[in-house]
Amino acid sequence: MRSVNVGRKFLADYQSIILKDLLAEIKELAAPLEGRRVLHVNATSFGGGVAEILYTLLPLMNDVGLQAEWQVMTAEREFFDVTKSFHNGLQGAPVELTDEVRSVYEDINRRNAAQLTSDYDFVVIHDPQPCAMRTFVADGGREASWIWRCHIDTSTPDQALYDYLLPFIRRYDRAIYTVAGYAPDGLGVPLEVVPPAIDPLAPKNMTLVPDDAHYIVRQFGIDVDRPLLLQVSRFDPWKDPLGVVDAYRAVKQRWPGVQLALIGSMASDDPEGWDYLEKLTAYVGGDPDVFVLSNLDNIGSVEVNAFQSHAAVVMQKSTREGFGLTVSEGLWKARPVVAGDVGGIPLQIEDGVTGFLVDSSAACAQRCLEILDRPEWAHAMARKGKEHVREHFLTPRLLRDYLRIFNGLLADRA
Ligand code: UDP
Repeated sequence: MRSVNVGRKFLADYQSIILKDLLAEIKELAAPLEGRRVLHVNATSFGGGVAEILYTLLPLMNDVGLQAEWQVMTAEREFFDVTKSFHNGLQGAPVELTDEVRSVYEDINRRNAAQLTSDYDFVVIHDPQPCAMRTFVADGGREASWIWRCHIDTSTPDQALYDYLLPFIRRYDRAIYTVAGYAPDGLGVPLEVVPPAIDPLAPKNMTLVPDDAHYIVRQFGIDVDRPLLLQVSRFDPWKDPLGVVDAYRAVKQRWPGVQLALIGSMASDDPEGWDYLEKLTAYVGGDPDVFVLSNLDNIGSVEVNAFQSHAAVVMQKSTREGFGLTVSEGLWKARPVVAGDVGGIPLQIEDGVTGFLVDSSAACAQRCLEILDRPEWAHAMARKGKEHVREHFLTPRLLRDYLRIFNGLLADRA
């Protein structure tokens, strides 16, 4: 296991952004938790939504008086091949659950669990990669309350895989899912429904004036006088980047000047990403108005922010999506968002009110055209989307929900 340094953040800085009652509620819930030790464990400190959330949530937990730590599993590539197949399997793809697969999964969980030597009050395990650690942890760890936090849409999983994972999940004291319908019947663990959130003060989301956004995106070859369609996502089939290219091509027939940027980070626990990037590049076929960019091209948080702040349309054309932080990120920048009508996305977008929900590339193209044709109307909709995000999907609300769960677990123990 490897510790991640999360730096510092201060809840007071959020005062002017969030609703006033929330701050008071957080303080009240934090008081009985003063000094309590919390460990979060996941599989990567870079790329993807979970890392994004933990970099904000942990410093805020520390700021309100807890002692929060983050550790990342250490493992070889074959483990991440197995856990990516689990991730896909929980989203509905068939999984080959051989003896070898089980043994890779369990051995690495056992090895990482053996490194958990400190005492904690709460251990939060994110996603399937470290899920079995609770089963294998030595006696010390048993003092803690254990929470399984599943970020994935597991409503239609490969059943054999779920049957294999369920005994590991049942060892937990609580389960947190983004949407109630993601949890299987007979989960056997008290369920909490908590959607994730974005940090409005992170470099990814802080306000950029249009000139600064222009200055940054121009450095990547974008013509700021022509409209830009954008999708920011891991290069993953469920995010449907090829469908995004199809939608862009359809839009281009009527708006020849339109450009498309596909930005994807290469997460260390996502070995499929490299192959998919190659496939996507071939599909784009050298179109000079399509920009496929990643952290390997020096795209970091500020650059993502600039692209999201500048885009005429933010797309998230997923065919499965646990939540989709990129949707809230786009809305927070008051950009018109067109996204797949799946998973956690409808929590964020009310179709035709705060953005658009689509279920095909043709529908996606159609909505993009409407937005390009009527920008003022589209921006009015996006501003409503921003207020929806303010109310429901900013990190202080997520902090509040965790504090409430921790208090509940303390009450169970008393
Ligand atoms: N992201 C990024 N750079 C990229 C691609 C993604 O910073 O090139 C970020 C994105 O802004 C978002 C997170 O990674 O904050 C992805 O979270 P989401 O919930 O959308 O999807 P996940 O990867 O967890 O399936």
